[in-house]
Amino acid sequence: MSNVISFDIGTTHTKALLVDKTGKILGSASKEYRITYPNVGWAEQDPRIWWDAVCDVSNDLYSRYHGRFKDIGMIGLSGQMHGAVFLDANKNVIRPALLWCDSRTSKEVEQMRTVLTDNIVKTVLSNPILAGLTATKVLWLRNNEPEHYSKVKTLLLPKDYIRFLLTGTIGTDVSDASGTLFFNVKKGQWSAKVLELLGVNPEMLPPVRSSMSVAGTVINKAAEQLHIPADTPVIYGGGDAVMATVGNGVTAPGKALSVLGTGGNVTIFSDDPFADPKLSMNIFCNVIPGKWIRIGVQNYAGNSLRWLRDGLLLFEKLLFEEKERNPYEVLTSQATQIEPGSKGLLFLPYFMGERTPHMDPYARGVLFGLSGIHTRQHIVRAVMEGVIFSFRDTIELVRKMKVPVYSVRAAGGGARSPLWLQMQADIFNCPVETVKGSPGSGYGAALAAAVSLGLFSTIAEAVAINIHTDRVYTPDKKNTLIYNELFHEYQELYRSLKNNFYRMHKRMKNVEHIVAKH
Ligand code: ADP
Repeated sequence: MSNVISFDIGTTHTKALLVDKTGKILGSASKEYRITYPNVGWAEQDPRIWWDAVCDVSNDLYSRYHGRFKDIGMIGLSGQMHGAVFLDANKNVIRPALLWCDSRTSKEVEQMRTVLTDNIVKTVLSNPILAGLTATKVLWLRNNEPEHYSKVKTLLLPKDYIRFLLTGTIGTDVSDASGTLFFNVKKGQWSAKVLELLGVNPEMLPPVRSSMSVAGTVINKAAEQLHIPADTPVIYGGGDAVMATVGNGVTAPGKALSVLGTGGNVTIFSDDPFADPKLSMNIFCNVIPGKWIRIGVQNYAGNSLRWLRDGLLLFEKLLFEEKERNPYEVLTSQATQIEPGSKGLLFLPYFMGERTPHMDPYARGVLFGLSGIHTRQHIVRAVMEGVIFSFRDTIELVRKMKVPVYSVRAAGGGARSPLWLQMQADIFNCPVETVKGSPGSGYGAALAAAVSLGLFSTIAEAVAINIHTDRVYTPDKKNTLIYNELFHEYQELYRSLKNNFYRMHKRMKNVEHIVAKH
């Protein structure tokens, strides 16, 4: 048995990777699906679309590599975190799953904040109470769809539902459980205290195990549908944010991963699970037992540049496209002509409020310091710098807690830009690397399965053999000094504006009221 296959159940698509015994990717397949939005702020998916996608990607790979399928020795799983799949007594899905990006649960967030003391949140959950997280969805179901809630016998996370269909067994892993707000992240077990305070039946929660342990084996029905041999073992797997750190080789102290996508996050390997003083980051159990990851989230990272491209600079975008040039590449290469610091322009990328470090839903984007000398190029550069300052906020937070960050691996669409990569090195004051082949969470899940199968002795070994640095950007001393100076002003700017953001929110509510009345 020398191959492994992984399924990564994402929000927009499911991806499969077939990997050989050396860790080399033989082939990949991907299947897209939609999120449904039945109401403002709601985001749902029928779990069956994930299963259909798993069948499709498996069959796609089988059609190309059927000779390799009989040698699949282990299945790895990774998936979107925080979703809630509700099963009844017959293990049937009761209603569509509520996803991580569903924000209908603001009342339930308040409910949880009233019931759970700050001390319990900090010492047991180690994670902030936020609308996206699973427990708030369970309470929402109880408050709003009691007829559904009364039928719930089992709560699963998205990838766990797929494992259930693969093996017939119910369970979850410590990394995904960490994002539910029912879990004691330090102890690695469900919190009886939190469940009792919230009045949630503990029997609803699945058994929880470490990510690389084997959960069960493929049942005949699934084997027929996927062309994977019956009795193939399946590991518990992990949440995609955690598996992404494995897939990018961020598996030792001092290492971090920055993902500059539409949103952004900075994930830091951690030897300890202690929450930051303001609870502005998430902490999840790691795939590596006895380790954790800390994750700071930025709501609007790469999207800031996209906003500039598609909004203010739409005319330029169309012009560049007419000349068959990538507008991002033109805009960012023009911004390299501008000195670090953008001649005093500072940008706060808080278009949708900010998670880490401010946890402030009222914050909004700011372009500060405009004068007549500023051009389009200055604005592009300032926007890029502001996004990386927001990432540095997360890095500062963990460095203050004595969690080291010595090097950062960069991923996401923004990592295509050499300027943005160099900026990260200069602003974080540490080397920033890209990884060959841009592997993601699905590859992390495949490596975890390979370790479980015994193809590698540890995750560290699997990573050392398979994850290779592509390009390295080292900090430019002069730029780092400039950015250190400006980072303080960046932080000050938010503090100065904090009250204005809230007041403006209130005023806009009044304006809406006036408009509605007249
Ligand atoms: P998602 O997070 O939705 O999966 P991506 O990881 O592809 O999306 O990231 C999209 C973002 O990446 C864009 O909003 C943009 O800021 C950035 N980006 C994409 N291509 C480039 C490029 N060539 N240069 C600079 N930034 C880019």
